[in-house]
Amino acid sequence: MTTYKLSSNENPFPPLPGVEEAAAAALARMNRYPDAGSTALYAALAARLGVSTEQLVAGTGSVAVLYHLVQAFCDPGDRVVHAWRSFEAYPIAIGVNAAVGVPVPLTADGRHDLTAMADAAAEPGTKVVVLCTPNNPTGPALTHAEVVGFLARVPRDVLVVVDEAYREFVRLDGAVDGVALLAEHPNVVVLRTFAKAYGLAGLRVGYAAAHRDVAAAVRVCALPFGVSAPAQAAAVAALEHEDELMARVEAIVAERERVVAALTGAGWELPETHGNFVWLPAGRRTSDLVTAADEAGIVLRPFAGDGPLSGVRATIGEPEANDRLVEVAARFAPASTGEPSGP
Ligand SMILES: *Cc1c(COP(=O)(O)O)cnc(C)c1O
Repeated sequence: MTTYKLSSNENPFPPLPGVEEAAAAALARMNRYPDAGSTALYAALAARLGVSTEQLVAGTGSVAVLYHLVQAFCDPGDRVVHAWRSFEAYPIAIGVNAAVGVPVPLTADGRHDLTAMADAAAEPGTKVVVLCTPNNPTGPALTHAEVVGFLARVPRDVLVVVDEAYREFVRLDGAVDGVALLAEHPNVVVLRTFAKAYGLAGLRVGYAAAHRDVAAAVRVCALPFGVSAPAQAAAVAALEHEDELMARVEAIVAERERVVAALTGAGWELPETHGNFVWLPAGRRTSDLVTAADEAGIVLRPFAGDGPLSGVRATIGEPEANDRLVEVAARFAPASTGEPSGP
């Protein structure tokens, strides 16, 4: 039986031909260091996003860029506010830089509590706030109006990171566009990655777009020659094949909608997801669900040990994998494990 990995929010599609060939051509020059300035990648991104190349910082995944940002802007003991539960890399990026994480609980429906986060951001010693939209692992996305309102409440000297790792999967009217905020908000930093929609998780390449001074400060902390030549070449080629990539994203979104409808029909109450994943609030049955999934040949991501707040994140993968997910999860639907219904 094929085993499907639905635990890391990867793109299930193989690389597009032009992308694979560009990376392979770069591999042939592996005796050379890569372009330290990521020149071609910055030029392609600047044209694509309508920002200047000086506003960009690439890294070995957008997680690495976040590490460097915290390193650049936080002294030991400085506060970094983020939602929780959210992306697990945040507490690590904060901790390795000896900053202090300030986790702000999500609302009951898995959303950022922007009021509480703005209050936390106004506390002295806060240097950075991270917004994750859509939130990994729960799925809800923020609107532009919500983020603009949030920015109005946050001190101008606090950096507001808008992590848009799953941006391409968002189908929400009025969803935030971090890059569009940059012109008026010099404290905004947008994080984007080639790991998810663009299907380059294994090559490690992501970036930030920010005010040029912020970008320059982050670049100082970046590792020399961090982003490999195959990664740079693949990212540039992926931007050139964006139409085909986005058709694949569309297929994943359609599968997501199919899975959400099936799970809702089976009795699950899911937070509104705009990522390539769904969050199953399985509570104390988290480990049992993941074990049953393992037996059915799908690997899910448990977030156990948190009592009723525990749950399972499942990536939307191949249709066959999604079918198995629906089948297994239906057996654990709250409706099917409560009081037996019927006579
Ligand atoms: C996957 C992900 C990233 C990007 O990770 P890379 O380091 O670019 O692979 C960033 N933020 C969130 C919330 C993610 O889920």
